[in-house]
Amino acid sequence: MPSTGFHQARLRVIIPHLEEEKTMTDKGIVLAVAAHPDDIEFCCAGTLALLHGEGYAVHLATIGNGSGGSMTMGPEEIARVRAGEAERAASILDGTYYCLGRNDLEITFDLPTRRDMAMFLRRLDPLIIFTSSPEDYMPDHEITSAIVHDAAFNATCPNYDAAARELAGLKQTSRVPYLYYMDAMEGLDKFGRKVRPSIYVDVEEGMDTKTRMLACHDSQRQWLREQHGMDHYIETMKSWTRSRGSEVGFSSAEAFRQHLGHAFPKENILEKILGKKVICHS
Ligand SMILES: [Zn+2]
Repeated sequence: MPSTGFHQARLRVIIPHLEEEKTMTDKGIVLAVAAHPDDIEFCCAGTLALLHGEGYAVHLATIGNGSGGSMTMGPEEIARVRAGEAERAASILDGTYYCLGRNDLEITFDLPTRRDMAMFLRRLDPLIIFTSSPEDYMPDHEITSAIVHDAAFNATCPNYDAAARELAGLKQTSRVPYLYYMDAMEGLDKFGRKVRPSIYVDVEEGMDTKTRMLACHDSQRQWLREQHGMDHYIETMKSWTRSRGSEVGFSSAEAFRQHLGHAFPKENILEKILGKKVICHS
């Protein structure tokens, strides 16, 4: 078992801004955790913009550092570039971007990563979490989903990673958060089957913010622009959002599923907050 010192040192490196972060809000913290920088902007930034507009503090995090996202830059250089891009995107919602610092394509459901995620959640104590789809096209996304589900529950147990928790001066989280899964890439699982969402959010009002956030990821946009000769990056997001909207009569929508397993809150808090902007299917 790693020593508690290991965890302290590790967290300082991984989450450098945490100590100075303003996370207090009357309403609560909304946290989006994905595998890679720009996943959140594709799948739930419109909904995050609406929640920010309702007075919730919104923060973004990824487990992967974006190290795989370039054909020309090395892993460390592109990870640095992408951290800056993700920070800019988060700042549009007055939020902070956190990274657990794993390399892309190496995200693993192992004890250090599970503990790091639980420790991170104990620091932020989010009310609502959005994360990657448990069924998706690649392991990084599916494993991120499992790590966040695991940590959302474990962080509430004082005896989980207790020595490191005490050393960090942290309590367990105050509740199991509301947990929502974002859309799978192209809405398909790895067998090509449709992943059927149960919740659609009308994000027309958040589209401008979502587009500006995605446009922060210039390294990815540029790569595709050079390769495809068009602004495929932004257009792909817009066309997918329109496509989800057309399924329920909205011009633009983001689609989700809520985690409804034992111990997780069953109420759909998105519907409570956003009212008629939310359509649910059983
Ligand atoms: Zn991704």
